[in-house]
Amino acid sequence: IPVEPFDLVIFGGTGDLARRKILPGLYRRFVSGQMPPEARVIGAARSEFDDAGYRNEVRDALVEFIAKDKLDDDRVAAFLDRLHYVAIDATGEAGWSELADLMRENVVRAFYFSVAPSLFGALAERLHMHRIADADSRIVVEKPFGRDLASARQLNQTLAEHFEETQIYRIDHYLGKETVQNLMAVRFGNVLFEPLWNAQYVDHIQITVAETVGVGGRGGYYDKSGAMRDMVQNHLMQLLCLIAMEPPSRFDPDAVRDEKLKVIRALEPVESRDIVRGQYQRGSNSASYLEDVEDEQSRTESFIAMKLHVSNWRWAGTPFYVRTGKRLRARQSEIAVVFKDAPHSIFGEEAGRHRNILTIRLQPNEGMTLGVTIKEPGPGGMRLIDVPLDMTFADALGPDNDDVTDAYERLVMDVIRGNQTLFMRGDEVEAAWAWTDPIIEGWQMRDMRPKPYEPGTAGPEESAMLLHRENRRWRAIR
Ligand code: NAD
Repeated sequence: IPVEPFDLVIFGGTGDLARRKILPGLYRRFVSGQMPPEARVIGAARSEFDDAGYRNEVRDALVEFIAKDKLDDDRVAAFLDRLHYVAIDATGEAGWSELADLMRENVVRAFYFSVAPSLFGALAERLHMHRIADADSRIVVEKPFGRDLASARQLNQTLAEHFEETQIYRIDHYLGKETVQNLMAVRFGNVLFEPLWNAQYVDHIQITVAETVGVGGRGGYYDKSGAMRDMVQNHLMQLLCLIAMEPPSRFDPDAVRDEKLKVIRALEPVESRDIVRGQYQRGSNSASYLEDVEDEQSRTESFIAMKLHVSNWRWAGTPFYVRTGKRLRARQSEIAVVFKDAPHSIFGEEAGRHRNILTIRLQPNEGMTLGVTIKEPGPGGMRLIDVPLDMTFADALGPDNDDVTDAYERLVMDVIRGNQTLFMRGDEVEAAWAWTDPIIEGWQMRDMRPKPYEPGTAGPEESAMLLHRENRRWRAIR
């Protein structure tokens, strides 16, 4: 479905994120016919380019980041025709009147802040001062949204000086993933799951976001944040909210976000015995975390596993185990809802027992699988086996579906449509920091050292113990 005509300004339009995700995503929307003929994209960054120079840069980015068979010269040329460029200084005066002159009336105006968060305030102020943004304009802001409650509040206040909450789109690209949206469809579009979706029938829930990469060239940035700030406070928290929230009365932005907020507020403080932090060691051909960040004394975690409790009627006593880390065995993100055993086995113990597990895979191979117990086919008597009811939709999405680019393009189009459902509201972000802050302060106060772990594993031993001590097991990372 095409969207309304728009002018999308990408501040930081020459940066890494714009080149790798935003512009390739827009190109794909263009190819699929979703960009109306009057839509334009305006790159705005520090480098001095004219339109032609910028188009060349973007062509290079498309060649690098889009599959060859999707790159057709004519289409690329037609897409590049939609691009313009203004050299701008976020903190000075250069370029702002040129940008003001370029903007058109009667189209949706959206401004993507793909720059360091320290520039958000300056951009918001100048958009306002030069009357480039109007009451219907939207701004899109990237992570990280603050590094603690105080800085997130400050950022919210700064943006609120010039924009209404309904104009602010805080991006968490996990929410743009097909599977994540499907999770809501499965939960609230079927009668099968919701009655079982509670402490009475669910034994526990696991959320895993495992990466194989180390911190690489981002060591300096990462070392100031760590897995808790970089992944848990935002992405894992958002996934947990969608799993744990009550059914909203409508699929509308505030109804959904109100329910997510209640989940965050219901999170209990976490005891230190329920947290495992780790740092990857040197591998046969990879540096250790400490080498990567060039600081032998760093106490920042590249891995974290935690047991959480959502303290409300629905989830009383049901643990949520979450873990994320770098340099692990495989790149794998999934949510697993592990249901309780059937209360009584009529087939006897020798038939075997199986649990229903609903697995929601974010990557690789986005999709969902429900493990169901059936009789082993054949004449061998009543033995039970587990078979997957597979709801994989990779086929429908196409083999070269890139889930991250995909998430970005979907979210950018939601901005143009004015749909905030899949974006974080200011109070949600603040509540998430309010829960995170005391945990991080506790580590700092006790000067806690993360546990070392071998690269290519599932993290430190202690992470496995977190579940073993309760007779549970993490799902394999493979
Ligand atoms: P980058 O350093 O590659 O690019 C920064 C961009 O900002 C450049 O286009 C530069 O010209 C522009 N810029 C810098 N100072 C400016 C100024 N004073 N006035 C105008 N423009 C200025 O950064 P990036 O990796 O693209 O990240 C951009 C934002 O996105 C950051 O907030 C980052 O945290 C966030 N982010 C990036 C990624 C990623 O994969 N790169 C992922 C998630 C979030």
